[in-house]
Amino acid sequence: MSFESLGLAPALLRALAESNYNTPTPIQAEAIPLAMAGHDVLGGAQTGTGKTAAFGLPLLNRLSKATPPNGPRKPRALILAPTRELAMQVCDSLRGFSRHLRLSITAIYGGAGMQPQIDQFRRGVDVLVACPGRLIDHLERGTVKLDGVEILVLDEADRMLDMGFLPAIKRVLGKLPAQRQTLLFSATFEAQIKSLALEFMRDPRQVQI
Ligand code: AMP
Repeated sequence: MSFESLGLAPALLRALAESNYNTPTPIQAEAIPLAMAGHDVLGGAQTGTGKTAAFGLPLLNRLSKATPPNGPRKPRALILAPTRELAMQVCDSLRGFSRHLRLSITAIYGGAGMQPQIDQFRRGVDVLVACPGRLIDHLERGTVKLDGVEILVLDEADRMLDMGFLPAIKRVLGKLPAQRQTLLFSATFEAQIKSLALEFMRDPRQVQI
């Protein structure tokens, strides 16, 4: 199994080779083809397994195909993450994978100023990595619109629920187009995660490593 055989855009393959990503990890080998085929994916994976690329590569591949419209762009992909550290890490990884694409990728989280984040939204954002609380702040102020989101990722969903983010997640989900792809990654699958998946995902394919 190679990244080439997965059908990823040449610009992504080039970035992967430069980062010495030679062989997909098991979660990548399973999740990437399903996500690229358009399925919702429920992924069981701990950190350190390569889950960021498992959702990041299909997401970036999808965005690499269509040329963005002129003018400020609204987010087409949204990744929800439990902590500032994870949001920053995911943002960095996606910027690395997309270095040969022209995409604006940004992370928003609490504890940082609102204004720079608002300025960034005005300039245009293609991929938004967000902690749920800060995203709600922006939604309430009307500084971000999520009606252009085509793909949603819930990263470390179990940790987000442990941190009490379920109401925030549900509010965010209510702002997204129903017609979208949803990828959910979690280390555990307790009842709350399963009911979230049942309610908000369409015929999800489960991958477990
Ligand atoms: P993650 O679980 O996404 O946080 O990834 C864990 C670590 O593995 C990160 O340092 C990644 O850069 C690295 N990594 C993920 N997938 C691959 C791969 N296919 N080849 C080499 N390194 C990888």
